[in-house]
Amino acid sequence: MSALPKTFKAAVFTAQGAPAEIKQVELKPPGDRQVLIKVKASGVCHSDMFTRYNAYGVGFPRIPGHEVVGNIAALGTGVDSKFQLGALVGVGWTAGFCGQCDRCRRGYPASCPKIAIAGLHIDGGHAEYVTVSEEGVALLPEGIDPAKAAPLLCAGITVYNGLRNIKEAMPGDVCVIAGIGGLGHLAIQFANKSGFKTVVISSSSSKKDLAVRLGAHVFIDTSAHDSVEEIKKMGGAKVIIITAPDAKLASSLVTALGHMGTMLILAAINEPLQVNAVHLLGNAAQIRGWPSGSAVDWEDTVKFAQLSGVEAMVETFSLEDYEKAYDRMMKNQVRFRSVITFP
Ligand SMILES: [Zn+2]
Ligand SMILES: [Zn+2]
Repeated sequence: MSALPKTFKAAVFTAQGAPAEIKQVELKPPGDRQVLIKVKASGVCHSDMFTRYNAYGVGFPRIPGHEVVGNIAALGTGVDSKFQLGALVGVGWTAGFCGQCDRCRRGYPASCPKIAIAGLHIDGGHAEYVTVSEEGVALLPEGIDPAKAAPLLCAGITVYNGLRNIKEAMPGDVCVIAGIGGLGHLAIQFANKSGFKTVVISSSSSKKDLAVRLGAHVFIDTSAHDSVEEIKKMGGAKVIIITAPDAKLASSLVTALGHMGTMLILAAINEPLQVNAVHLLGNAAQIRGWPSGSAVDWEDTVKFAQLSGVEAMVETFSLEDYEKAYDRMMKNQVRFRSVITFP
């Protein structure tokens, strides 16, 4: 390991709603149970918006970024010996948690009220270096492409962990994916590789080829077909994954749920859904969300992706082009995740 620099370059939000500034930040040695990571790739996520607009009231300055892949550059005191200098590691949303509340004790630290979110409560990965508590660090397999792995630590795990925690869903069941974007293009792959009959619905027939290439067994063009009727012909859906922030779309699909079906809402829909409650009642069906996961889930997600060939489609940018990367994502132009890469 070469000596650490005194400062490092980072994209920093300094005022509400203002563009990130690229500036030099002081590099502090890692503290007790902390790991310093030299960043190789850092994915840009819609949730970077929460940092830009101070949605969590944490204030400024703050470095965003919660899809981080890099190598361990230094270790604080008391860090577990499984973390070695130079090891390839990742950091996602849940960078810290209390470990003592009932949610943590039951194994759901991503729902901890004292969660430390990377890039929100603590400085994140759109920077040459990031410092994280060891519980927020995942060991990643060597040989993966950091730029393609980074989005798996937020978009990927959100889909994979949400899906694998639906206990009623078994291989062979119908899994419907609504939306083909940053989350959706990964959801199609994870559903297919998990053995589900993978059904993709979209209002644009031009997405059909891509959907099929990603693993769709059935493509429903909603401009030409009634998706609920088509799904009912298959016996109803065991899972419907909503990956687009569209309350109307989600509401309209509830009646496509089959017996013990689950609508998994992974997009941040910030308005009420109108649902046919009788349909839920009669079918023992449910609507639920799933809040990402933590380090061990990131490890599972990357391992599963590596074994099965699930791959994020990314566009890469330099740190200086962070605003461009953010803008392309916000305008839904990026195919399908923006990732900052470092030399
Ligand atoms: Zn994210
Ligand atoms: Zn907790």
